[in-house]
Amino acid sequence: PLVLGIETSCDETGIGIVRGTTLLSNTIASSMDEHARYGGVVPEVAARAHLEEMVPAIHAALAEAGVGLNEIDAIAVTSGPGLAGALMVGVGAAKSLAVALDVPIYAVNHLVGHVGADLLRGEGVTTDAPLEYPTIALLVSGGHTSLLLVRDLVSDVELLGETIDDAAGEAFDKVARVLGLPYPGGPQIDRVAATGDPTAIRFPRGLSHQKDVAKHRYDFSFSGLKTSVARWVEQKGDAGETVPIDDVAASFREAVVDVLLTKAVAACTDLGVPRLLLGGGVIANARLRQVAQERTCAAGIALRIPPLSLCTDNGAMIAALGAQLIMAGHEPSTLDFGADSTLPVSQIQA
Ligand code: ATP
Ligand code: MG
Ligand code: FE
Repeated sequence: PLVLGIETSCDETGIGIVRGTTLLSNTIASSMDEHARYGGVVPEVAARAHLEEMVPAIHAALAEAGVGLNEIDAIAVTSGPGLAGALMVGVGAAKSLAVALDVPIYAVNHLVGHVGADLLRGEGVTTDAPLEYPTIALLVSGGHTSLLLVRDLVSDVELLGETIDDAAGEAFDKVARVLGLPYPGGPQIDRVAATGDPTAIRFPRGLSHQKDVAKHRYDFSFSGLKTSVARWVEQKGDAGETVPIDDVAASFREAVVDVLLTKAVAACTDLGVPRLLLGGGVIANARLRQVAQERTCAAGIALRIPPLSLCTDNGAMIAALGAQLIMAGHEPSTLDFGADSTLPVSQIQA
């Protein structure tokens, strides 16, 4: 089926068009620059930007795919989780389009969409064999840090654990701020860390002590790490010493990467699942990719990392999930669904 996917859960207005698992276009308009001076995504600003970008983005995606609106077989849209106001813009646009074109609509889960990104094939995309089940998925972005057990993309996704406070990307953004680096912090920390010593400072690995692991084996926590970095920098400043920004960045990055992969690999090992899929914008992190390769290789786990354009928020992954639901014979969503900012990951379709 030819599916148009709409994604507006955060600051990307993503429109993607797929035919089954074939990627035809993936248009992304981001309002990231508008959030820079606030140091994080401002919901109202994101929602307004979606409104402005929606129609041009749909036209751009159709043109890039070389298809007309009248050819679209179905609409897929993110109904949650995400920012309520931002989601509402996408949901409204998707419903209008589905009614106008008289085609079915599939309201889908954003996080499961990230997993669906791995199914897409086409120009400039991986030629790897199709995703196999079960797989563990580690999704890390500015809004999420989640570990999933995916037994089947369209019918069985289980949340193993998630962050109990800040998301990993959020921690990168906050620590960058402490170090006087601009937003978004992830790429900046990556850049500065390149010349730093990752063993210079031993920052805490959240929820990794024995007592925490019992209750939070697959959960994450990054707010203590952030505070620890801030305190370390402050003490240096108070002592009149210069702060070795590169060492701090490298040591912080190492702590995040270490805890993410320790828990992801533990999930694979504990549950006997020899496959790990990565997704989300933080996957751009150079050190995360490197350590993921090393540790999965050592543990005999097959690692999958979709191309970055499909790891950050995008409409193609939503269209891909919609196409999978159609091909599996699922009924479309009825038009009474809404934006659900806390949609649980087990609810693949709303
Ligand atoms: P959502 O959480 O809904 O998926 P988001 O917009 O917060 O949405 P993305 O756009 O996927 O998430 O990712 C943005 C986040 O990724 C930011 O927090 C940014 O700092 C982080 N990031 C980007 N590049 C890197 C990098 N090289 N290293 C670490 N973090 C990075
Ligand atoms: Mg984003
Ligand atoms: Fe996302």
